[in-house]
Amino acid sequence: MALSAARVSDHGDSVDAPESGENAWIAFDGVDKSYREGSRTRMVFRDLTASIGRGGMTALLGRSGSGKSTLLNLLGAIDVADAGRVSVAGVDLGALGERERTLWRRREVGIVFQFFNLIPTLDVRENVMLPLELAGVRARASRARALEMLAEVGLADRGASFPEALSGGEQQRVAIARALVARPPLVLADEPTGNLDHETAGEVLDLLARLTAETAVTVVMATHSAEAAARAGRVLRVSESALVESAAGTVRSAR
Ligand code: ADP
Ligand code: MG
Repeated sequence: MALSAARVSDHGDSVDAPESGENAWIAFDGVDKSYREGSRTRMVFRDLTASIGRGGMTALLGRSGSGKSTLLNLLGAIDVADAGRVSVAGVDLGALGERERTLWRRREVGIVFQFFNLIPTLDVRENVMLPLELAGVRARASRARALEMLAEVGLADRGASFPEALSGGEQQRVAIARALVARPPLVLADEPTGNLDHETAGEVLDLLARLTAETAVTVVMATHSAEAAARAGRVLRVSESALVESAAGTVRSAR
């Protein structure tokens, strides 16, 4: 196993040590979030409070427009809340300036997108190396680590291919390799199977679940598919003011 679990101690807390009453490695505390459209304001979340513990995969299940991507953007410090507090590993993301948010995100977060978002002009290995280069890892070490990660996702022989030569499922596996290569503690996946056929979606979810189980990473996956959500250890249904726990096996599709 190439990925290490050593990260747990880097952040000073362990899987079993809750920060508050709950195991709140990720915490939304009284969060309001709205969008301005011209003169109108569209409220997406009002006084949202929820928490997610460290490690494992949590699915955010909700229909289109329920605010799943908004939540992931808050967790990735891509966007900030209007009010309330969003924190990850004790870091209050709203208290960071823009530059600090960018640096925090590079260090702490890997992101998997619905449409893969690989760089078409870079080959597969170079795509996977990107986060390591941003982290200042030297070329030789970064090449080796990228190849190791490609082997983890079953694409050891595709490093020299360009993204367009790969199937959708393969491209998403490359994107997963890229998200995990620098061993970020948090990985956000926004409808990672939304552009894949049913069988390929299952393979990608298997891969994500396996890599999650093998490491200390915390994965938060947004999906409208109950079937995809059911692959996560925990399912939270997204509503305006709460993330409602859904017992495994009872989730129904949200579209
Ligand atoms: P989901 O990912 O669950 O489909 P989103 O988080 O993308 O939902 O969107 C939640 C709501 O916020 C939707 O009503 C959407 O139209 C609105 N919204 C999202 N982004 C913006 C934006 N940049 N400007 C205005 N409204 C937005
Ligand atoms: Mg979305």
